[in-house]
Formats: sequence, C-alpha cells, structure tokens
Amino acid sequence: MLGYEELRRAFDGLGLKDKPVIAHASLKSFGKVDGGADTLLRALLDSTGTLIMPTFTYKTMITPEIGPPNNGLTYGDDHDLNRMAEPFTPPMPADKQMGAVPETLRNFPQARRSMHPIQSFAGIDADKFLSAQSLQDPLAPIGALAEVDGWVLLLGVDHTVNTSIHYAEKLAGRRQFTRWALLPNRIIECPGFPGDSAGFDAIAIDLVRDTRSLKIGDAIVKATPLKLLFEAVVRRITADPLALLCQRDDCERCNAVRIVVAGQRLAD
Ligand SMILES: [Zn+2]
Repeated sequence: MLGYEELRRAFDGLGLKDKPVIAHASLKSFGKVDGGADTLLRALLDSTGTLIMPTFTYKTMITPEIGPPNNGLTYGDDHDLNRMAEPFTPPMPADKQMGAVPETLRNFPQARRSMHPIQSFAGIDADKFLSAQSLQDPLAPIGALAEVDGWVLLLGVDHTVNTSIHYAEKLAGRRQFTRWALLPNRIIECPGFPGDSAGFDAIAIDLVRDTRSLKIGDAIVKATPLKLLFEAVVRRITADPLALLCQRDDCERCNAVRIVVAGQRLAD
C-alpha cells in the first residue's frame, strides 16, 4: 500500500517543486493508496508549485434543434439527454468520468474553481490561472500556465485525457465547436469547445525526449512542459491536418475536422 511519504518522495523526483502544473489522474492505476485521493493530492500539492485540474460538467449540456453547420453534432437528436441535463451552479460536482481526484481537489477548503458551465477548473493558489478563463476562451488557464513554464502531469492515464492537447489543436488552427449549457435561468452558448481526444495518444512518441517518466506503485507517471507539448502538437497538425484524430467512422467531431480539411485541400 502506498502512503503519503512514498508518493511525496516519488513526486519530488519529477522536479516540479516550483512549477505550476495541470494534472490528470487515475487513482485506481496506483493500486492501493492509504487515504485515497486525499493522500495523493496532499503529496502532489507538496511537490508542485501550483496545481490545477479539470472539473468538467458535461451533464449541463443541451443539444438544440438547430445550430451552426458542421458542428460535430446531430441537432434535435438528444431530447432524453436534454431532459436529464442539470443546470450549472458553482458547487456542482465534477462529472464521475473525471475521476475521484479532481472532485476531491475541488472539495479542499482552500480550493477555488473557475465558473465555465462545462469546462471549469479547480486549483489551489491558482487564481491567476483560473481567472484567465472566459466563456470565449475556456482553455485559457492552460495557456496561462504555459506562459510561466507550466507542466502537464499524467498520473496513470494517457494522452487521451490530456486537455492541454486541445489547447494546442486550437493554436494549430484546428476547428473548434459550439456547445450549449444549462444555467439555472437560461441556456448559454459556449464557443471554443474542443474536438475529440480519443486519438491523442499518438503524440506520446513525439514527447519521449521531453518527458520525465517514473513508476509509482502500479502507475506510470509522466510530466511534460506545456510549451514543448504545444510545439509537438502544432508540428504534427501542420505536417498532417488529420493527425491525432480518432479512427471511429461515426465520430462526429473528428469527421467535422475531416470535412474542413477536405474543403481546404479543394481550395488549394
Ligand atoms: Zn474522434
């Protein structure tokens, strides 16, 4: 069983003591941790400069009857899901699919959360990053981290959950989408919604030299500087505008990107 001391020693080995970090974690991947997500987070907080995590709430999303074209979405198709949508409020828990760790971070007494109704982030001593977010620029906290030598930390998860790759996709000019979220008194349009991440692990091979990696318990932990991640993703997409898309025939967002790229190729 892993405890605080072993986790702390291992995380210290990543050399992130003074770095602001965005983390994605699977608690299960570590095997047994004494004290669970709380212990994992205390060790992380003590071995990084600043920590933020995504506390996304997809359960607020509404699909309208009509909307902009090629938006990676079938309009008017989600009546049942729309009925189950919940209005965003600041204390709304992060979705279960985000895992136990970000929700535990959000519940730390000293934690703050940004206010995007779908793509909020929680952090401690991270107000300057969290406040960079706007409705128009939901992933701005990641850009703000990168500006001050921020790192992304993958704790027992791969790049398919690496939100920072979405930031780099936008830098590379890849299509962004519009989504809609339920608030207590209205529905709000949310621009800048990213594409699908199922194909993202293909970037791992480009990052081997720039990634600090170690094994803790059963988990592989990987730390990469955000700026180098952005450069690698932009390089890939510039070389091949279809890079990092998934291979599922019915993936609406990846197919929407393919439609844009096919149009650009016709125009060239
Ligand atoms: Zn896809």
